[in-house]
Amino acid sequence: MTYRDAQLQVRAMVATERGTIRKEAATRIALVYPSPYRAAMASLGYQQIYRLLNQVPGLAADRAVLPDDAAAARAAGWPLLTLERERPVGEYPLLAFSVAYELELAGLIDCLALAGIPALAADRDHHHPLVVAGGPLTFSNPVPLAPYVDVIVLGEGDQLAGEVVAIAGDVGWRREALLDALRDRPGYYLPTVHGDHVPKVGQADDALLPARSQILTPGSELADMFMTEAARGCSRGCTYCVMRRSTNGGMRVVPVADVLAGIPAAARRVGLVGAAVTDHPDIRAIVRGVVDGGREVGISSLRADKLDDELVGLLARGGYRTLTVAADGASERMRRVVERSTKESHLLETAALAARHGLKTTKIYMMIGVPGETDDDIEELIRFTGELVKVHPKVAFGVAPFVAKRHTPLDGTDFAGIEVVDRRLDRLRKGFAVYRGKAELRPTSARWAWVEYMLAQGDRRAGLAVLDAHNAGGSFAAYKKAFAARSAAPTGARARVPSSSEIIALRKRTVAASAAGQ
Ligand code: SF4
Repeated sequence: MTYRDAQLQVRAMVATERGTIRKEAATRIALVYPSPYRAAMASLGYQQIYRLLNQVPGLAADRAVLPDDAAAARAAGWPLLTLERERPVGEYPLLAFSVAYELELAGLIDCLALAGIPALAADRDHHHPLVVAGGPLTFSNPVPLAPYVDVIVLGEGDQLAGEVVAIAGDVGWRREALLDALRDRPGYYLPTVHGDHVPKVGQADDALLPARSQILTPGSELADMFMTEAARGCSRGCTYCVMRRSTNGGMRVVPVADVLAGIPAAARRVGLVGAAVTDHPDIRAIVRGVVDGGREVGISSLRADKLDDELVGLLARGGYRTLTVAADGASERMRRVVERSTKESHLLETAALAARHGLKTTKIYMMIGVPGETDDDIEELIRFTGELVKVHPKVAFGVAPFVAKRHTPLDGTDFAGIEVVDRRLDRLRKGFAVYRGKAELRPTSARWAWVEYMLAQGDRRAGLAVLDAHNAGGSFAAYKKAFAARSAAPTGARARVPSSSEIIALRKRTVAASAAGQ
């Protein structure tokens, strides 16, 4: 593999795009996504920051993404090239990473290696670019990122991304001067200044909403879909969720006219994005506006208790084939414990609506291993699935092991255990078998959920373990060994699973703290 091969691969990605920004500017920075292109272009946050940074006079932001086969690219000595300029990322004065979740830390390490930049900030000097990170992960626990980056932009980066780049340019891209300039500004976590104490997340000015796609491409996971925010945040209080009402004041709604006016004429597929889009008071008018324009529609978050004939009818007209909702708790009891308002009656109605409107599948997201869950909750899910498949004969469950996140009432609760999760998945598999193909289980890995947990609840030692594990081949066994070698215990772990009443007390304390503005 040669430099030319890397160039051709990048060129092939860009060739299918509409909306690529080709800008001449005195200053250029690299906007790096530590997952492959198809994921990068399906990230509305990444697209929004790309659009906003390129609106700044005199500044251009060029994208770079993790190669599909990062190991092969590293072995072949490929440089990481920007998509717009086909220039090595290592030549830029500043790299800004967008990190969505814990397991992308390995991708960030790969990107730095491909850019020829030492992974650890402590090993870099003034010859190296500045490294900044932001993105959804910063709402929960960014501390494992600390060894690798100079600055972390916390929470909503719509304004802060432009601010940090402007300040970095003003101080001549000098690390110490940048840290001095940022140390008293809100919204930044500076690992060498703040230690493991993470300041409060930033909140963007509502005038910058809605976030919108800049680029349409068939190469995205959401092929050729124009994404636009309909709402930001959520007003509900699920106790495991970082986007709950205590984050940045709950849900902020984008007016119908603003959502619809921003959709370009060329967009044939429109994705309405937000933590709780169906809680938008005018969601039906928005969906009708999209569908009446002859477009397909997608919604990132359907709430079962918000669906009715009118909305599902519109979704069916807009090309829906699968009606997807989240239930999260395996039983009515567990949903009450985690304050998830979805009930069996809502799920049965969802399945009935899917059947009535000719949709192929009802899909339900579920967590297992939630604190306080027992085998009886799993048995209840198996029994209830029998009721669901009588209503709609194709039900799929996307099942993920519960991972406790920072800034939630369940922060610090233990991982259920790989064996427990695998045993419960196995029980579900066997339980669903009696429904003869009408109920399908689509689980995610318990092992990698445990790795996610170690990072979600860990500190810098957990972050450093990722480098060790990655250098040792990146297998699950390598991670296990690396966490043990670094003594990377979850820092907030409790000795035992809290009872339901303890969880309710925790929840009350968090709500009170949030009301007090803490
Ligand atoms: S899980 Fe969904 S409904 Fe619950 S708080 Fe989070 S975004 Fe809101």
